Amino acid sequence: MNRIVIEDIRVIANRLECRYTVSGQWEKYFKATNTFFAEYSKDLDTVPQSVAIIPFLCNILPVVWIFDGEVILEDIDKDFLLSIDEFKQGFANMYPELSFEGRITPKKVTENGQETSHKSAMFFSGGVDAFSTLISHIDEKPALITLWGADISFEDQAGWKMVDQYIGGVAVNNNLDYVSIKTSFRRFLDEAALSEYVIKKTGNNWWYGFQHGIGVIGHAAPIAYQNNLKTIYIASSFTKEDRSTCASDPSIDNFVRFCGSQVVHDGFEYSRQDKVNRISDYVKRTDAPLQLRVCWESEGGSNCCHCEKCHLTILCLLAGQNDPRKYGFDYKDEDLADMMKDFRREIHFSHPSCMVLYQIIQNELRKNYKMKQVNKGLRWYYKMNLKKELSTQRRMFYRLIRKIKTIR
Ligand SMILES: [Zn+2]
Repeated sequence: MNRIVIEDIRVIANRLECRYTVSGQWEKYFKATNTFFAEYSKDLDTVPQSVAIIPFLCNILPVVWIFDGEVILEDIDKDFLLSIDEFKQGFANMYPELSFEGRITPKKVTENGQETSHKSAMFFSGGVDAFSTLISHIDEKPALITLWGADISFEDQAGWKMVDQYIGGVAVNNNLDYVSIKTSFRRFLDEAALSEYVIKKTGNNWWYGFQHGIGVIGHAAPIAYQNNLKTIYIASSFTKEDRSTCASDPSIDNFVRFCGSQVVHDGFEYSRQDKVNRISDYVKRTDAPLQLRVCWESEGGSNCCHCEKCHLTILCLLAGQNDPRKYGFDYKDEDLADMMKDFRREIHFSHPSCMVLYQIIQNELRKNYKMKQVNKGLRWYYKMNLKKELSTQRRMFYRLIRKIKTIR
């Protein structure tokens, strides 16, 4: 029998810490730490145990479901407990090849409903998705939340400092609250072993396909309680056209509730091109310059201008008649042609869900420019027959070429 017993959950000032024991065959998927912690940049002094446990629970639930485990704990928030089966269904629909079992056995269920409020918060990274959500809800003055320990490791202190300063700056410029959270959520599970287990059945790795959406969201519960928040936004990365199996999905996120707050998966109706256009419209309307941070390749939080994510965003900005250099992309005029040449190679290796977006960007480019007006480095894209170019045959051909080159 797979079982996890929450021995102790403690909140001291701004830090919550959970100690647990794991037993059963699934033990090998847990590291020997037996502790989970999250350190917030703001006090959590009013947060009860029934809420403080939510960040940890959100990160073990997918494991519990897949390995039919039982969680034994003292006290749980009623809203959250009732919402579990609803967002579990989102996972079950996404992965019909797996069975989602498991159970939560609390000694006590506590209702933490709060007085009516209109306050909100949102997860914010500084990317296109996050800025688009911020713009949609800027009148609500949402608090910005970011996690240290997701894409930036604890060891990369310099990288974190840059990100922290950058998001702190966005908060100050927009007169918003900012909460950063140092969390061990990627340090207590054996991600590689879990990936090995699920990838054979679903084609997805553990982090991307199972943990990262819900695991991130859970961290908002203590903030929601402490500040009496009504809504927590998490920005969508996909639209219904290019939706792929990923743990951050409206069919999961929109069903998560805790202590009187509701999670909203925001911006699913917009393509990346729409989002970039909304951002540039906002900048023009408010005359408030804005620096995007889309890149995970470069250290220190700047955009490298050489990875696919950077290329794609630069292309969206150019297609919408904007100068990417005003949005945090630092490159020279003469470099653009080479950057786009690299991009031309990359598109044959990108995830099939990107195809829809490439078509949308091309439509935008053709809508806004005549061929002659387009920068020479972009004309190939303007002209390209995307369907043909991105056909399975062509993609296989490029894969083969790459393989041969690597062997050499
Ligand atoms: Zn980059």
